[in-house]
Amino acid sequence: MIFLAQPDAPASGTDLRARKSIAVTGGAGFLGSHLCRALVDRGHDVVCLDNFHTGSASNVEDLCARANFTLFAHDATLPFPDTLPRFDEIWNLACPASPVHYQSDRVRTLLVCCDGARRVIERARTDGAAVFHASTSEVYGDPEVHPQREDYVGHVNPIGPRACYDEGKRFVEALLTDAAEQYGIRLRMARIFNTYGPRMHPDDGRVVSNFVVQALRGEDLTVYGDGTQTRSFCYVDDLVAGFLALMAAETVSGPVNLGNPAEIPVEHLAETVVEMTGSRSAIVHRPLPVHDPRRRRPDIGRALAELGWRPRIGLREGLERTIHDFETRLAPRTPADPV
Ligand code: NAD
Ligand code: UDP
Repeated sequence: MIFLAQPDAPASGTDLRARKSIAVTGGAGFLGSHLCRALVDRGHDVVCLDNFHTGSASNVEDLCARANFTLFAHDATLPFPDTLPRFDEIWNLACPASPVHYQSDRVRTLLVCCDGARRVIERARTDGAAVFHASTSEVYGDPEVHPQREDYVGHVNPIGPRACYDEGKRFVEALLTDAAEQYGIRLRMARIFNTYGPRMHPDDGRVVSNFVVQALRGEDLTVYGDGTQTRSFCYVDDLVAGFLALMAAETVSGPVNLGNPAEIPVEHLAETVVEMTGSRSAIVHRPLPVHDPRRRRPDIGRALAELGWRPRIGLREGLERTIHDFETRLAPRTPADPV
């Protein structure tokens, strides 16, 4: 299925000399759709490849009316179709990111990591394209070092329930690093820490979307464990700005942490969402998933020094925008609903 877009003028301020041909795998997902929008707005020709496993065409529906955007139904584990144009850049985002989804078919998760990266390498070699890889803070596992710097090698159980994702992503970092060196591919890798924002799927299963949806529907907010475990939540616009800065950087090599260093206990997040939505939902506790990391916070010294990047949007501002987005997307409540 290909949606061919209508002709459209490039966004104002577009530098046509820098116009690139860009592929984004997983481009119809949460992060991918924000990235595609940013690239299209900069006047690049963007092909979004996605099999809609956890993403949706509706995430990029508005972009399909733009002349420089094409949505292409494609499984990232298969070779890139020959019919696609030559690419200057390939952004490798295809992979379910929510624990609920990546654990629902663990073999498939491992295979999309390794086969997806293999296909990206093949096409990058043919086209001479630069590669961007969306890695994750999960490569640090349940970290024994805090905050996590890029030189920390991690604490991951290779046969635990999270291994399909953690080890899949670790393997891809190794594969891409070696391929870049052996084949002379320009590679940029971001280790992304928990990111949230508009267009997350209501059934995504990650904590911010769960809490916001539960609060808006008047359902109990489900805190797993005692809620003292921490995460560092980055607003999606900040992350995409970091992606673009990293891909554009001339000299950086190796993975770079991108995330918001403000460390938030999960219980505090639940209380904040209840307060900000004005919900009458209760906060309840459910069993902690096996091997759930205790603490997570990025050391972003490298991103700051080498890219001049740091997040700008605090938790409350980001939550406000996210809550507003879910309010407009969730079905209107009936008078009988409790909120
Ligand atoms: P998401 O689940 O919303 O997006 C993943 C996209 O990949 C979806 O559109 C999905 O349909 C697509 N996909 C999955 N398998 C595919 C396949 N075989 N072929 C083609 N497309 C496929 O998740 P997201 O939050 O947007 O994450 C995007 C990337 O960023 C992932 O690689 C994820 O590991 C990474 N990441 C995200 C976060 C975060 O906090 N959002 C943190 C760390 C890393
Ligand atoms: N979590 C929670 N309630 C939920 C979903 C998640 O308490 O409804 C917790 C989860 O156990 C973890 C944290 O929130 O400690 C972040 O979970 P998420 O799935 O968003 O991402 P992770 O960082 O674990 O990959």
